[in-house]
Amino acid sequence: MKINENVSLKDLNTFGVAANTKYLCEITNLQDIEALFEWRSKHNLPALLLGGGSNLLFKNDFEGLIAKVCLSGKDIAEEDDEAVYVSAAGGENWHEFVRWTIDKGFAGLENLSLIPGCVGAAPIQNIGAYGVELSNTLHSLQAVNLDNGDILEFDNELCKFGYRESFFKSQALDKLLITSVTFRLPKKPEWHINYAGLREALEGEVLTADVISQAVISERQRKLPDPAQIGNAGSFFKNPVLKVSEFESLKSEHGELPGFPQNHNHEVKTSAGWLIDQCGWKGHRVGDAGVSDKHALVLVNHGNATGTELWQIAEDIIASVEDKFGITLEPEPRVIK
Ligand SMILES: Cc1cc2nc3c(=O)[nH]c(=O)nc-3n(C[C@H](O)[C@H](O)[C@H](O)COP(=O)(O)OP(=O)(O)OC[C@H]3O[C@@H](n4cnc5c(N)ncnc54)[C@H](O)[C@@H]3O)c2cc1C
Repeated sequence: MKINENVSLKDLNTFGVAANTKYLCEITNLQDIEALFEWRSKHNLPALLLGGGSNLLFKNDFEGLIAKVCLSGKDIAEEDDEAVYVSAAGGENWHEFVRWTIDKGFAGLENLSLIPGCVGAAPIQNIGAYGVELSNTLHSLQAVNLDNGDILEFDNELCKFGYRESFFKSQALDKLLITSVTFRLPKKPEWHINYAGLREALEGEVLTADVISQAVISERQRKLPDPAQIGNAGSFFKNPVLKVSEFESLKSEHGELPGFPQNHNHEVKTSAGWLIDQCGWKGHRVGDAGVSDKHALVLVNHGNATGTELWQIAEDIIASVEDKFGITLEPEPRVIK
């Protein structure tokens, strides 16, 4: 495993923040994983796994080893009367994998089209979009324990998925390297199109995975700033999930507050974007750090913003939403201090 020293991360995170890492290596096979395991046991420095860098904010330079997961390969693992099982290695590009399944005639991942990043990172925050989460189709995954080299298999239940949550995020961050993920894609597809924007775009269409995927792609391109044009990490805050009584009390003061019932009507998810917009943040800019003028939930780097400058805006947003609505927003990307 080759380790490079003092490398810029600018092209390795979608915010385009110009932090440096002390060491950088690539994980392309099992030997590299063993070498990473050994490196971790010998050095008293942090080690961070990296996919596409689309859910990270580097506040400062990273004083340790960043291991970019580049494991590749995808195949049809199994098939029975009801479903096909498809697998992809942790370093595969997520969207290319989704499109590969659709081109093979399989359905189930279409709503998750165009989410940036790699397959191995997708379970970390249980990626979700347009009413579907990864947990709906994830069958199992393989991971290597970086503390002892053991190879582990997790079924869907063991992953302990929640809204932008998983076992890997809450209890095993940086300890398990996800090497491959297997999905169960039912042969009788169930379409999920009851999501504002998607429903309208698909009116009158004959539904197929490809048609839905194309509609999702157009909606995302219309709504979200493209990291290739302007640095960002997608939604910067999670949508708050409130108790019904909390939601109703806020709704009585703010009639337009959006609400989506959750967990059999015990809770209500509201829109972080709406809350931020009400505080007047859309299009706000300080130097090169700012809030997208397309979407209040997206922080943007207009060019040379530092992680600290972007984080300052995030903290100011959290304070103002707390002040106006009494809700504490939680960041969705991982902030590396
Ligand atoms: C424009 C844009 C739109 C987005 N839209 C969505 C959306 O609709 N829904 C959504 O859920 N997310 C969205 N995101 C966030 C992001 O795309 C996802 O969280 C994605 O899964 C991150 O993948 P990544 O490979 O870039 O992970 P990284 O940012 O590289 O890493 C994220 C975390 O995963 C860990 N990690 C990475 N690879 C591995 C591995 N192989 N094993 C173990 N740990 C690993 C890292 O250490 C880190 O903690 C969006 C981001 C952008 C920029």
